[in-house]
Amino acid sequence: MKALAIAVMVITTLALTAPAPSQADPADAGDAGEATGSPATDGRRPSGPCALASVTPGVSEAAHTPAGYARSTGTVRAITFLVDFPDAPARSTPQERYGEFFPAVADFYRTSSYGRLDYRSTPVLRWIRMSRPYAAYRIERGTPFDASRDDGYHALSKEILAAVDGTVDLRRYDLVNVLLAPEAGPPATEDVRSVTFAGAPTGLAAADGTPFKNVSFIWSRQTGDSPFRVLNHENAHSFGLPDLYFTGGVRQKTPVGHWDLMDEDWGPSNDFLAWHKWKLGWLAPGQVHCLNAPGRRELTLTPTSVPDGTKLAVVPLSATRAVTVEARAPGPLDHVVCRPGVLVSTVATDVASGAGPVRTLDATPGSHGCHTSDPNLNAGLSDAPYVAGERCAVAGVTVEVLGTDAAGRWRVAVTRGA
Ligand SMILES: [Zn+2]
Repeated sequence: MKALAIAVMVITTLALTAPAPSQADPADAGDAGEATGSPATDGRRPSGPCALASVTPGVSEAAHTPAGYARSTGTVRAITFLVDFPDAPARSTPQERYGEFFPAVADFYRTSSYGRLDYRSTPVLRWIRMSRPYAAYRIERGTPFDASRDDGYHALSKEILAAVDGTVDLRRYDLVNVLLAPEAGPPATEDVRSVTFAGAPTGLAAADGTPFKNVSFIWSRQTGDSPFRVLNHENAHSFGLPDLYFTGGVRQKTPVGHWDLMDEDWGPSNDFLAWHKWKLGWLAPGQVHCLNAPGRRELTLTPTSVPDGTKLAVVPLSATRAVTVEARAPGPLDHVVCRPGVLVSTVATDVASGAGPVRTLDATPGSHGCHTSDPNLNAGLSDAPYVAGERCAVAGVTVEVLGTDAAGRWRVAVTRGA
């Protein structure tokens, strides 16, 4: 069975603090007028009335990411290990396997974050051979990291740490990547196993006591024009992002489609939702408009693929729910936007990772979509954006697309009822 996206085993943390809104954040100034952000301006994590509250101690769409996750701005350092098995020895060199992901993963984050995330990977460029055959570790989709067991990810990780003991100082790294030899286990087209253990410690520590956590294991090879994106997806869990696709085992259409790689990281390249960029600290306060007062507001949105300008309008519906508005057009990371326009989504922090915390509205319900040639994406949502003259009404919020200007920006009017 072909799977669309990657599983995550989210380890929850018990320490949860409430978000502390900044008092002078322009993002909460709903009537601040047009503002133009710039990559030169520091991004900032959400605050103000549009920064939705946390109701779970794990990954969610909330503004606040609990302690224990990795930072997602500035210089973020990853250590990358390569692992194979005595019965599944790697046929490629460590450099070749590493080259499937780097520098592409770092480049992706640099572009998507408008230069605000400087991702640096340090590889240990040798195959670390496990002591037992692949099957002895009993790893399947959904296998947890269980520090009480002598198999699974705990056993693999113990052997990795033993192999590099004295040569790698884990304290220097925010993320750990483990690239398994693609010869081990089934092809990704049959069983998706890549997984991240994010947030709280896994129960395993290096000899010096440094917790082994925020670790992503990448199995097999994905297809498409940028298969490295599986690691961008997995690392994003360590930054606090949830899965948008339904993880319950029942095959359901992806609720956001190809508009975010936490929903679909297969197939052609795609970027993150503007909401996720805000959560990760990649937008300057002036690039986000929080429409928390009743009335009609006109805004000019620049597409996600363009670094400057207003990227996101948010209409809060409650402490945990909001409507988001952004513009999408073809760009360096958005390869197959076939109906450029204004994307409207609903976000819920009280809906768990893997249960559909974000839903994208479809401007053309019932259509087959405009990108129908790739089975890895939800074609029906490929033409989801609203175009000039169209209007979207959801949860008491109306979004009208007024048109585009010569610079490719989208004029919208957002009306919120009393
Ligand atoms: Zn995931």
